[in-house]
Amino acid sequence: MSLRDAVIRKRDGGANTPEDLKLIADAAAAEEHEGQLGAWLMASYHHGLSKEEGGALTKAMADSGERLDLDGLPKPWVDKHSTGGVGDKTTIALLPILAACGLTVVKMSGRGLGITGGTIDKVESVPGFRTDLSPEELKDQANEIGLALTGSTPRLAPADKTLYALRDVTGTVDSIPLIAASIMSKKIAGGSRAVVFDVKCGRGGFMKDLESARELRDWLVGIGEAAGLTVRAAITDMDQPLGQTAGNALEVEEAIRFLQGEDCGRFGELVLHMAGLALEAAELDAAPAISLVHGLAIEKAREWFEAQGADWQQVISFDFATAPVQKTIEYRGPTGFVESVDANAIGELVVQLGGGRTVKGAEIDPRVGVEVLVEVGSRLEQGAPMLRIHAASDDIPSTEGVVAVKDSHVPMRDVILE
Ligand code: URA
Repeated sequence: MSLRDAVIRKRDGGANTPEDLKLIADAAAAEEHEGQLGAWLMASYHHGLSKEEGGALTKAMADSGERLDLDGLPKPWVDKHSTGGVGDKTTIALLPILAACGLTVVKMSGRGLGITGGTIDKVESVPGFRTDLSPEELKDQANEIGLALTGSTPRLAPADKTLYALRDVTGTVDSIPLIAASIMSKKIAGGSRAVVFDVKCGRGGFMKDLESARELRDWLVGIGEAAGLTVRAAITDMDQPLGQTAGNALEVEEAIRFLQGEDCGRFGELVLHMAGLALEAAELDAAPAISLVHGLAIEKAREWFEAQGADWQQVISFDFATAPVQKTIEYRGPTGFVESVDANAIGELVVQLGGGRTVKGAEIDPRVGVEVLVEVGSRLEQGAPMLRIHAASDDIPSTEGVVAVKDSHVPMRDVILE
């Protein structure tokens, strides 16, 4: 049995054995045999993987590096994962709510790439917020206050890092089994026991339609449960941006305002839905809304931000990263209803403003972004504000076509699709 045999088996449409998949993951972790790995990825893209192969690949990838050992945490712990979208600041509001409800949350997050933002970039817009906690610091902080967040480390599931880079250059990123194995291997290596997934669906997400979102959800649940994890998953709307902001500091502010009790519409609804799923996964039934109302969650957020190095007074002053230029874009047409707010276009706008990156490792400007003042179904009159652009200079990209309006009534769109 060799790596070459494993590639040929998949090339010919056969099933790979767990041993084959271990050879694949080990070669990827060692950053060797990239030609064969690329060929195997293309063969897998075309022939697909069975659920058994997906599970075995995930396990081999999770075993390819270190594992975070979270045993010994005093309360049930949960992890949360979003497949990524525009304006998705859910984690920042959700973690303190879950900790206030009696769960422990240990979360590794990533940085943004392209139109998809990353939680690490968002919290780093707050001066002093540390995102490089060691495994010991992570566990100690989670023990003490019930939540801790850090950037992902290449030492966990290193096979994924190589395979992801090869998928990128071989045009095989959007294979659902490969996406599911990539995500789940990091969850398993990160010590998760219970995970809630937010599978985004629409123009601003990985999965553009409900059919593919369902397929990804089923793969994530299937692989997770086969590995002994408790998994809950929602499919949620990412055709329009989530909430009223897209851009790093703006999103932190919106998440904090929600915890302070502001009604944040669809964003708030999603946070509470995810909180319900997480509590269900952990077999707790505290109502998440109660801890919000009683102010426990905002107090948890203060403990969390302070534990990770931020100055809370600065956070709640909401002027920790303010863009020098703000420009409101008004509607110029006859009275109508918003038909769409293109999440992809808003994400592109944030990147053009400097708030997102097109290549890994590039610097971003945390101050810039877009306030989205309308949503699908909003009624608009001539002169009504639609967008507010936060920019580093007067050189503001065009917003043409971002919001589409029609003259007849448009229903509001649910944020939770399934
Ligand atoms: N996120 C991941 O971690 N992996 C993928 O393949 C896609 C999204």
